Amino acid sequence: MNKIVAIGVDLGGTNCRGALVDRNGQVCAQCSMQTDATDDLPTFLQRLTGFCRELRSRAVEKGLHVAGVACGVAGIVDPVGRIRSAPNLQLLNGFELQGHLQRELNFPALAINDANAIAWGEAQCGGGQGFDSFLTLTLGTGVGGGLILQRRLWQGACGGAGEIGHLAVEAMGRPCGCGSHGCLEQYASGQGIKKNFQELGGGEGEETVDSIGIARLARRGDPVAQSAFDLAGRYLGQGIAGVANLLNLEGVLFAGGLSDCLDLLQPSLEQELAERAFAVNHHQLQLAAAQLGEQAGMIGAASLLFDRLGLR
Ligand SMILES: [Zn+2]
Repeated sequence: MNKIVAIGVDLGGTNCRGALVDRNGQVCAQCSMQTDATDDLPTFLQRLTGFCRELRSRAVEKGLHVAGVACGVAGIVDPVGRIRSAPNLQLLNGFELQGHLQRELNFPALAINDANAIAWGEAQCGGGQGFDSFLTLTLGTGVGGGLILQRRLWQGACGGAGEIGHLAVEAMGRPCGCGSHGCLEQYASGQGIKKNFQELGGGEGEETVDSIGIARLARRGDPVAQSAFDLAGRYLGQGIAGVANLLNLEGVLFAGGLSDCLDLLQPSLEQELAERAFAVNHHQLQLAAAQLGEQAGMIGAASLLFDRLGLR
């Protein structure tokens, strides 16, 4: 029998990545394309299905059998694979993506929230393997979350669970794209750290255009850049302490582009956590880096499809 793979897709507002993933979580091939959230829906979908067909052809060339496609999407996805809310991919709001992919590609399909896919990938093959219950915090353009409780992905009643980025950490805080204000994402995401830096009086130089540049400044000893990360770390600590007290988890894994800056966030984060979480819950909680990098979402989505199909 040919080796079985699933097409794992990570669909975002500006970029789409896809991979052929086997049942052990190994990536056999990978490709990517740009996405344009301002496209009309038929054009957008046509490009997405074309992308999946291309990956299927590559699998056939390699003598691999494709079990189906699993798509992680930056938005709330309900249990039947309908996109309930996708702030960065608004054209998909209300769209039944899973059914559409299944019909168009004529094989099993799955749609899932991207941060949940990352958490499941880390649980199966990455930094979450040693934990029964943990949270994956994805720090990037936004702040995403995925919850694994007793080795199962907790998606909530309609797919909206794990959204730690939208915990209110500042009662009268900055407005958020979700419609609320003072959300953690507004202070601890890449964009949030940039706002922290500007509000603290940071300059507008070329190096400060994004959070990576601000991180570079902070490491060189720039006090405003360091304060911007301290502030983000404090709010992260506040959010994580609340989650630790609610769920008494064993671990928090940091994923996403900004997880490389954990060294800058950790001192104030740990301090806040120590002050706010119950001591027993705090001692139980390990903070660690995720291990699968940018492949986590594709591996996790593919792995979840294998589970659904009874192929693991
Ligand atoms: Zn929000």
